[in-house]
Amino acid sequence: MIDFSVIIPIYNEELNIPNLLTRLRPVVEKLQMNYELLFVNDGSKDHSLALIKALALADSRVRYIDFSRNFGHQVAVSAGIDLCKGNIIAIIDADLQDPPELIEEMVALVKQGNQVVYAQRKSRKDKSVIKKIAYKTFYRLLAKISDVNVPLDTGDFRVMTRKVAEVLKEMPEQHKFLRGQIAWLGFKQTFVEYDRDVRAAGEPGYTYKKLFRLAFDGITGFSNAPLRLATIMGFVVSGISMLLILYALFGYLFFKGAMPRGWASLMIAVSFIGGVQLICLGIIGEYISKLQTDIRKRPLYIINETNC
Ligand code: UDP
Ligand code: MG
Repeated sequence: MIDFSVIIPIYNEELNIPNLLTRLRPVVEKLQMNYELLFVNDGSKDHSLALIKALALADSRVRYIDFSRNFGHQVAVSAGIDLCKGNIIAIIDADLQDPPELIEEMVALVKQGNQVVYAQRKSRKDKSVIKKIAYKTFYRLLAKISDVNVPLDTGDFRVMTRKVAEVLKEMPEQHKFLRGQIAWLGFKQTFVEYDRDVRAAGEPGYTYKKLFRLAFDGITGFSNAPLRLATIMGFVVSGISMLLILYALFGYLFFKGAMPRGWASLMIAVSFIGGVQLICLGIIGEYISKLQTDIRKRPLYIINETNC
C-alpha cells in the first residue's frame, strides 16, 4: 500500500503528457505522501506509450497499464481503480482540462473525512456551442429522470478513498458510468468548483459517438424512465386508436357511405403507430443488450503490459 495514486487515462496524449507532469508533479510532491502516477494507455496510436515507459524507467513511481486496444475512457479509469495501490486516489484527464492544482484542496477535504471529493464545473470553455448545450441538457435530464442524484456538470475528475475504490471494484456492470456509480454509493461526498479549460493540445478522444454512448449508458444505467415512456406511449397511442375506432363505427352506423375517404388518415395512423412501436422496441432492445453484455461476463479490458 502507498499513500496516494493518481490515475491518468491516456488516449493519444503525447503532446500533453510532458506539460501535465510539469504541473502535476509539484502538486503531488507538496502533499508529502508517497505516491504513484498510474497511466492507463487506452490503445493510443501515437507515441504516448513509449513516452510513459521512458518515464517509468527513470522513476519507479510512474506506473502504467497498457491495454490491448482502445476500450474507452470509463474502462481505462476502472482499470486504474482496479490496479492502483493508493489509500487516497485521484482521477484526472491528461489534457489539462482538469487543473492539477485543484488536487491539493481535494485531498485536504478527503483528509477531513469526505470519502469522495468531485470537481464541479462552474463554466466550460468548449469550442463548440452545441457540445456545451448538449452537456448542460444531458446532466439536467439525467438528474430529472434518474433514481440517483448524479451531481450536475461533473465529470470524472475527483479524489476518493480506498474504501470507495474497493466498493467500485465490486460493481460488476460492463457499461461503466462511474460518476453515476459513485453517486449511487452514498458515503460522505463533497465538491469543489472550478472553471474547465479548453484541451491544452491534441484532439479529443471522445468523439460524438463515444459521448452519445456514454450519455446513453448514464441514462439506461440509472433510470427506467425510457421504459416507462415506452409504456406511456403505448397507452396514449392505444387511446387514440380507440377513439378512432369509435369514430369509424359511429360513422359507419349513422352516416353510411360518408366514411371511406381516408387514404391519408389511414397512412398517417399506420405509420405513426409503426413508428411508436419501433421506438418502444428500440428502447427495450437497449436494456436487453445491456443485460446481455453483463451476462456474457467478458473481461472489462485486456492488459497487454503493465508494471503495476
Ligand atoms: N481517453 C481515453 N480513452 C478514450 C478517449 C479518451 O482514455 O477512448 C482519455 C483522454 O486521453 C483524456 C480523457 O480520457 O485523458 C478525457 O478525454 P477527452 O479529453 O477526449 O474528453 P473530453 O474532455 O472531451 O470529455
Ligand atoms: Mg478533454
